Amino acid sequence: MIAGVPSPLPSDIPTGVPAGIDVRTQVPLARHTYLRIGGPARFFAEPHSLDEVALLFAWARSVPVAVRVLGGGSNILVADEGVDALVITLRRACGQVRFDGTRVTAGAAVMLPALARAAAAEGLSGLEFAVGIPGSLGGALQTNAGIGDGRSIGPLVDSVDALGARGPLTLSREELRFGYRESSLRGAGVMVTAATLQLGPRPREAIEAEMRRLLAVRAAAQPTAQPNAGSVFRNPPGDHAGRLIEAAGCKGLTVGGARVSELHANFIVHDGGATARDVAALMRELQERVQAHAGISLVPEIEWWGPAPAPAAFPAPPSAELEE
Ligand SMILES: Cc1cc2nc3c(=O)[nH]c(=O)nc-3n(C[C@H](O)[C@H](O)[C@H](O)COP(=O)(O)OP(=O)(O)OC[C@H]3O[C@@H](n4cnc5c(N)ncnc54)[C@H](O)[C@@H]3O)c2cc1C
Repeated sequence: MIAGVPSPLPSDIPTGVPAGIDVRTQVPLARHTYLRIGGPARFFAEPHSLDEVALLFAWARSVPVAVRVLGGGSNILVADEGVDALVITLRRACGQVRFDGTRVTAGAAVMLPALARAAAAEGLSGLEFAVGIPGSLGGALQTNAGIGDGRSIGPLVDSVDALGARGPLTLSREELRFGYRESSLRGAGVMVTAATLQLGPRPREAIEAEMRRLLAVRAAAQPTAQPNAGSVFRNPPGDHAGRLIEAAGCKGLTVGGARVSELHANFIVHDGGATARDVAALMRELQERVQAHAGISLVPEIEWWGPAPAPAAFPAPPSAELEE
């Protein structure tokens, strides 16, 4: 929650919470996001097991309150007013990594850089591209996270374990669809709990050298020292959002405390004083200027977490709330 923006969310003490599960109220989400912006979650829980997750789903249904899964918090803009939902982090329940030959099965909360390094230590290739993406495996599968040379998580997927409306399910590669920053998992109303990836053998030294190279490229091109959410807009077909924003003269443009990075125009940064409203207004301004300059409509890559209707910068997205 930021100073001067009172949360309109009910500050009720949860009742009927399953025994032994700690459900907290009014937990500030800013500290759980890479942008370091955002109001509180009405309810927040860190279940220790999938059984606890299932119990939380049932409890949320009885309140009733929507459920949202928080991964690394690197691809979301949380409203200043907060989120009227039970926000669940899978850090404790889904953090395991298991190698079996050239395959790896990892929990949804495992962070991509850690997974890439673990694979490297096993001499397994495929995840080099992911070493600088600060998201969880579960979050990465929502947008088919990847890098500019075309490598992404989707093609590695063998199967995905999830919790859906009717309980646990396993989705095979054939049942999943991955495209540019999109996947059939997004908005499907399921919580990813784990995924099995098919990797290939490669000498560890070669993998680590490539990861160092990719991290150096990233460090030179991205404003890593300031809070940000990575690329704010998707690249339109055949072009780059950053190039279009720069060509429209928007590098350094500010709204309130939010500023277009001088280093990478598709990044919005701040020095601690920005609100979600500032970021959303700056995004809208960029969309309008790029539309006027190049006739191209920029679509957000980051996701709005807050009350509907979303700010004008965000077209109606598939819901990130989970169906129960
Ligand atoms: C500095 C920086 C650099 C970045 N570079 C890249 C890049 O090179 N390539 C790229 O693709 N992205 C990049 N990103 C964006 C981001 O890291 C990715 O989109 C990442 O995959 C998001 O994962 P997350 O765990 O942080 O998701 P979150 O931001 O926590 O959540 C995003 C969405 O995924 C959902 N979600 C999370 N976990 C689950 C789950 N287990 N089950 C169901 N839904 C879930 C959330 O509910 C939400 O709807 C970058 C971000 C930053 C801050």
